[in-house]
Amino acid sequence: MKYISTRGRSPAVDSAQAVLDGLAADGGLYLPEHLPEFDWQGCLACSPREMSARILAAFLPDIPHIPELVDSAYLGKFSTEELTPTVPVGDFTVLELFHGPTSAFKDVALCLLPRLLTAARRQKGMDGDVMVLTATSGDTGKAALAGFQDVPGIQICVFYPHGGVSQVQRAQMVTQPGRNVHVAAILGNFDDAQTGVKQIFAGQKDLPFPLSSANSINIGRLVPQILYYFKAYRDLLDSSTIRMGDRVNFSVPTGNFGDILAGFLAKEMGLPVGRLICASNANNVLTDFTRTGTYDRRRPLKKTTSPSMDILVSSNLERLLYLLTGDAGQVDKWMAELSKKGFYTVSQPVLEVIQEQFWAGCCDDEKAAQTIGKVYNQHHYLCDPHTAAGWAVAEDYIRETGDRRPMVVLSTASPFKFPEAVLQAIGGDLGGDGFRQMETLSTLSGIPIPANLAMLPTLPQRHCAVIAQADMLNFVRESMGN
Ligand SMILES: *Cc1c(COP(=O)(O)O)cnc(C)c1O
Repeated sequence: MKYISTRGRSPAVDSAQAVLDGLAADGGLYLPEHLPEFDWQGCLACSPREMSARILAAFLPDIPHIPELVDSAYLGKFSTEELTPTVPVGDFTVLELFHGPTSAFKDVALCLLPRLLTAARRQKGMDGDVMVLTATSGDTGKAALAGFQDVPGIQICVFYPHGGVSQVQRAQMVTQPGRNVHVAAILGNFDDAQTGVKQIFAGQKDLPFPLSSANSINIGRLVPQILYYFKAYRDLLDSSTIRMGDRVNFSVPTGNFGDILAGFLAKEMGLPVGRLICASNANNVLTDFTRTGTYDRRRPLKKTTSPSMDILVSSNLERLLYLLTGDAGQVDKWMAELSKKGFYTVSQPVLEVIQEQFWAGCCDDEKAAQTIGKVYNQHHYLCDPHTAAGWAVAEDYIRETGDRRPMVVLSTASPFKFPEAVLQAIGGDLGGDGFRQMETLSTLSGIPIPANLAMLPTLPQRHCAVIAQADMLNFVRESMGN
């Protein structure tokens, strides 16, 4: 199976190389030239780990021993064998993606990516270490650190904005153990950290070691996420909510468009998915795009209570545009317009296909808080602000379209990662620091704090570096030991 770039100006590579490279040389994203043939009904009969192995093997045929990689990624790391359980809440089914080691949905992919990278590295006969660079606004950093901890042949540097992440998120990162993990706070905001990382990538040729990426531009991070769409469908079959072949809608709290694109891939592989509902927060670029066909990033980024969705350029939308048009030259033009002018407009036929497959809406902080409060009061179910956006937009969708098919709302983070916003929404006491607020939330709701978060205050702080953006390259070199 060949992987090609969405911009069509890089040579095709095999799946192992696509995982190693992260980004194609022409700046595009890798996709298989043809989506794999897939026995989707057979997949539904499997256990979650077998489902994952089948999906990965279909997309990454050049990576050997996939079942073993999947077992070592997930066994003992998730708090349930189900990996991603579903819970019926009111009229919806909530798909809980936060039972991994860092209580964020990114764990599903970041437990696997390091193993895929290591296997790809071995497959290509590389012997030196690979350096994985990650700039984070909070969640990705910890999930990547936990996933890459002590994985042989790989070093990882995570950069987060000094004073720009929550207390809980900072504690998660600075207490991370592991011989190969390196963490620094950057004097600046998230953009400064991200720009610093991009500059290091741009000067890659002068470095004596290869770089890779842990974010969802990497196909090795996207493919593991297809699993839970299958798992959710299977749960609905098991509970007799649906019969085989019935279509199910999914509402997805969206930032970089990776999670929802995995749902689209599941549909393309045969899974009976109805509408994919793209839920944004007040940063509603995708809502405008899906309604008008114009993607316009020329607006200020708003800070919200759902920080993992605070994003104006959703990288994986580029993959969707390629999948829908098959026209790399056109995608290349749109992306050039986006970077030069700040916007592009797709043609009417392309917009119509997007609207057939997707529906988009947005939910500001106030509506998210109301939703958290309402869901808690009516169903005694606690959701985090990202999940609340998914819930609220799913309700808007049903109100506007009358589509009554079963609705699965993806829950992307534990409410205990955002205790302040959640307490505020359910009328709890906001006193004390983030750790105290987690305890208050637990007492109030009767739900235990996830173990990985509960023990944070007791762990030693290992990574206290605070550096200037200009010193990031030195930090990376020192971390690599040269
Ligand atoms: C990353 C993240 C999202 C957005 O996922 P994308 O794949 O970037 O669209 C939503 N919620 C949480 C909690 C996240 O960490």
